[in-house]
Amino acid sequence: MAFSAQSHASLVEFGQKHVTKGLGRIVDAVITKAEGSYVTFGDGRQMLDFTCGIGVTNLGHCHPKISKAAADQCMNLVHGQCSIAFHGPYLELIQKLLPMMPHPSLDSFFFWNSGSEAVEAAIKMARTITGRQNIINMQGAYHGRTFGAMAVTKSKTIYSEGFHPLMPGVFSLPFPYWHQLGVPSDTPTSKMSEMCLNQLSLLLSQASAPRDTAAIIIESVLGEGGYVPAPPEFLKGLREVCDKHGILLIIDEVQSGYGRTGKNYAIEYSGVRPDIMITAKGLANGFPLSGVISRKELTDKLKPGSMGGTYAGNAVACAAAVAAADVMKEEKILDNVNARSKELFDALNALRANPKLAPAILDVRGQGLMVAIEFASPVGTGPYDPFRNPSVPEKLASRVAKKCVEKGLLILTTSVYEVIRFIPALNISKEDLAK
Ligand code: PLP
Repeated sequence: MAFSAQSHASLVEFGQKHVTKGLGRIVDAVITKAEGSYVTFGDGRQMLDFTCGIGVTNLGHCHPKISKAAADQCMNLVHGQCSIAFHGPYLELIQKLLPMMPHPSLDSFFFWNSGSEAVEAAIKMARTITGRQNIINMQGAYHGRTFGAMAVTKSKTIYSEGFHPLMPGVFSLPFPYWHQLGVPSDTPTSKMSEMCLNQLSLLLSQASAPRDTAAIIIESVLGEGGYVPAPPEFLKGLREVCDKHGILLIIDEVQSGYGRTGKNYAIEYSGVRPDIMITAKGLANGFPLSGVISRKELTDKLKPGSMGGTYAGNAVACAAAVAAADVMKEEKILDNVNARSKELFDALNALRANPKLAPAILDVRGQGLMVAIEFASPVGTGPYDPFRNPSVPEKLASRVAKKCVEKGLLILTTSVYEVIRFIPALNISKEDLAK
């Protein structure tokens, strides 16, 4: 029987049998079409998509200009291997991205397929450029599932359990987030930043630590770790420490970048200069593409041929990204993010102000359209916290997310704590957001 003629139920059954269980899944259904902010399933259900495929289809599913650019590129050049020769879309994309950089020193680019690969490349770069081996990461961080990226990820145990030994030389610092520091939830961010920076000083006070440390890697907004923006004073403190000791600051903007937070890159909120910045997800609006951006003075230290990958910087993905960059400008995406963000925060804060719901809501936070609601843990269970309390069975947030799916809203939790995250398309309309 032709694939398209098979019933939805039989396709789901086929998928359950033959698609590797290790992937996990939140809806047991087949997506047959997606357009703008909506996805349609083979059983006829249509859902408002507040996941964007985990922050990827930021300009809506199947944006006509981006799909057309990719289709046109397919008739011209599909695969250009960048260690053989440049190709047009690669260079055009750099031209488009240069003015969007959070600091003018970021002028040297190379592209990959996924966020994890870009993280791997950034770690390799930091090690070879500094001649040092250690990397400092943040507790709660998520940087991906390949070996280097997994080693600097410090989130749910499932990401690394059973895959040891991990890459050595990784040391973790708490993120200025009250759960992690065990302080009251109303502790000022300046105080929490100071506490974390003190821990960094302690870590670096060991005799050889500074001269062994290649890089500090941090997400501008802790993503899987609970949607917590890094306080500007903390990022500034990290910058100072890096400058003092010749350590490179790697800013991971895979989830928070490319307009998601209402700026081109979330690091702009602090004014801090990254030495290496990683971007991915929304870059090509669904075509696999990521980028590592640094300054030429640093990347000139890399030996030719030491970096690269067969498909890295694919021509069709780059052409889609060029079109996405145009759409960002033409549709004034940042203006929409900031307007819709205010409406979303107002709506969520109104829930929090409702006396019936208030006790269940601990926090509403985020930046732009990277927004989260954190619930109080069910009485008697303590917070779902993989570091301190790994035994809580199912998160309250997971149950809320499941209810949302039943009601036609596709939504995700974060890996830790009782958090659901709102990742709508950046061009979502006022009407769709209000639904
Ligand atoms: N870094 C961050 C902050 C992420 O959120 C992710 C993925 O969610 C990654 C890196 C890994 O990206 P990928 O899944 O494309 O490998």
